[in-house]
Amino acid sequence: GKGLAVFTSGGDSQGMNAAVRAVVRMGVYLGCKVYFIHEGYQGMVDGGPHIEEAQWSSVSSIIHKGGTVIGSARCMDFKERAGRLKACKNLVDCGISNLVCIGGDGSLTGANLFREEWSSLLDELLQKGEIDKEKHGKNQKLHIVGLVGSIDNDFCGTDMTIGTDSALHRIIEAIDAISSTAYSHRRTFILEVMGRHCGYLAVVTALASEATMVFIPEKPDRVDWADRLCEKLIQERNAGQRLSIIIVAEGAVDMEGKPITAEMVKEIVVTNLQQDTRVTVLGHVQRGGNPSAFDRILGSRMGAEAVMALMEADENTDACVISLVGNQAVRLPLMECVKRTKAVAQAMAEKRWDEAVEMRGKS
Ligand code: ADP
Repeated sequence: GKGLAVFTSGGDSQGMNAAVRAVVRMGVYLGCKVYFIHEGYQGMVDGGPHIEEAQWSSVSSIIHKGGTVIGSARCMDFKERAGRLKACKNLVDCGISNLVCIGGDGSLTGANLFREEWSSLLDELLQKGEIDKEKHGKNQKLHIVGLVGSIDNDFCGTDMTIGTDSALHRIIEAIDAISSTAYSHRRTFILEVMGRHCGYLAVVTALASEATMVFIPEKPDRVDWADRLCEKLIQERNAGQRLSIIIVAEGAVDMEGKPITAEMVKEIVVTNLQQDTRVTVLGHVQRGGNPSAFDRILGSRMGAEAVMALMEADENTDACVISLVGNQAVRLPLMECVKRTKAVAQAMAEKRWDEAVEMRGKS
């Protein structure tokens, strides 16, 4: 059978385990020799015990766990050719020529680069006599498929990334907890949620929690946001509302591209309205806890589809990413999606917000 490995890389997210499980089970079912690579690219570079054969039973009882049981890491070595050369040798030694990479756009960029370099890495290893000429001559290809694990839902081409829904659940739980105490004391609560380049979590949270206002990286639509915020807060209190919630994404900016932080918003509310105001920064709580049913199913579907894509790949198949479009798991060209994701971030950094939003919208 074909040699296939799965690894998780970059920031973890809930639902990654479901994806790992599906890859292993679908791979074993189709007769592949399946491997885990522990600790992302670092494990691939270091080899040895980090690359471990997986059995059907190895992935029992992980679907409900948060994070990733096979570990994730950021890896400087893999950014250098020397590191990728070691990784290549380790994969060849195990007979692995198919990879499922579960990570964000950085990890997927690395995977694609590795794939493009593969034959030249093999040549170098052959020249050095580190691999067997008979077994690893020309025409050996590395096939890769990407799955996007990210709580921010910041990847172009897919309606949802693995982990976003669970993060939303966590945020809503936190807001419900905060709301009951805020209600008792008639407080205004400012909540910072994740999303450096993407306001998705913040916007959906704001809708689901009846927030007064939300601040996102895609800029506020008016210069006078501070006045408008104060006006709305006064209106709400005058109408008898006992608590107010304001959501701030960590990458929120104003019309000039200057950061808007939870502390800044608090300062405005306290100075202008003297309301009892508190800030909560959710931080890593959002990545924690068990994956939602949606993320378990999403990870499972994507993992299974990834293996199918690898089994059907031939000489001319390009790298793909498994995306959710509507309610379908589909294969899209990996590098196109990565490039568009990077272009969106770039456009936002250059304050071309409308362009960024439009670009992200096209799937
Ligand atoms: P994410 O995958 O969540 O976007 P990172 O951007 O930190 O997270 O990428 C995770 C890892 O992927 C990096 O630590 C590195 O090992 C690898 N990687 C990222 N970008 C590249 C690249 N351009 N070339 C090679 N490897 C990369």
